[in-house]
Amino acid sequence: MTTAPILEKTAPAALEVHDVHKWYGTHRVLDGIDLTVRPGEVTVILGPSGSGKSTLLRVVNHLEKPEIGHVSVGGELIGVKRHGGRLRELSERAILAQRSRIGFVFQNFNLFPHLTVLDNVAAAPVATGRLSRPAARELARELLERVGLGDRTGAYPRQLSGGQQQRVAIARALALRPGIILFDEPTSALDPELVGEVLAVIKDLATSGTTLVIVTHEIGFAREVADRVVFIDAGRIVEQGPPAQVLDNPRHERTRDFLGKVL
Ligand code: ADP
Ligand code: MG
Repeated sequence: MTTAPILEKTAPAALEVHDVHKWYGTHRVLDGIDLTVRPGEVTVILGPSGSGKSTLLRVVNHLEKPEIGHVSVGGELIGVKRHGGRLRELSERAILAQRSRIGFVFQNFNLFPHLTVLDNVAAAPVATGRLSRPAARELARELLERVGLGDRTGAYPRQLSGGQQQRVAIARALALRPGIILFDEPTSALDPELVGEVLAVIKDLATSGTTLVIVTHEIGFAREVADRVVFIDAGRIVEQGPPAQVLDNPRHERTRDFLGKVL
């Protein structure tokens, strides 16, 4: 039977970034980024500070608009729609709907300080009308269990360590059942002894088939979980490939230079 391969071939990419340019004044922050992420793939993005990694994630999540290019998530164009052959901007409502299909985990957790851990996780499914409050709280309990915080549901963010807060943030991202989760340096703000517990949770997601795009400087972690490593410098993809190639056998001087500094 040929059905399976054909289906596989036509399944939309989880994320497609096509020729994205972003600039602030004369500063070209993203200078023609092309990137395709397949469903279930784990992509780690590496690059020096200021190379455009956060901006790329922010474009994917509609927090920034590219000057040129477009992004699609799950086969659907983000931020624009085709109208008589032209690309038009989406309504705020449509953008919110699309954004709810993308999970985003920030460096600084960004939890709601006035809500309990349980309500931090349950809030979005209720606000978007996906779940009733009791169902959302039930889901939140399950997700907090999954990230090892089943016993802290009633705590407030300030009562938790940074590692615990970041695990709540991951549970919160999962609560909308996103097709893809973006992580922007999820362990950079943590004390070294708390990094491992957060990486363990991300690794659990990686091995369970969730599509992940992770910006991190944790090279050992990248080697372990990434299907693909993408090295960005000055707004361009310098090289990409399996970790064994990019991390252990980089082709470009700039990649070698960067790895020499972070390893
Ligand atoms: P990275 O995450 O790789 O460290 P960023 O994407 O945060 O890099 O930033 C890339 C470049 O774009 C930096 O030089 C930064 O100063 C600049 N930049 C980012 N956001 C803005 C903004 N809103 N206005 C002007 N410059 C910006
Ligand atoms: Mg950044």
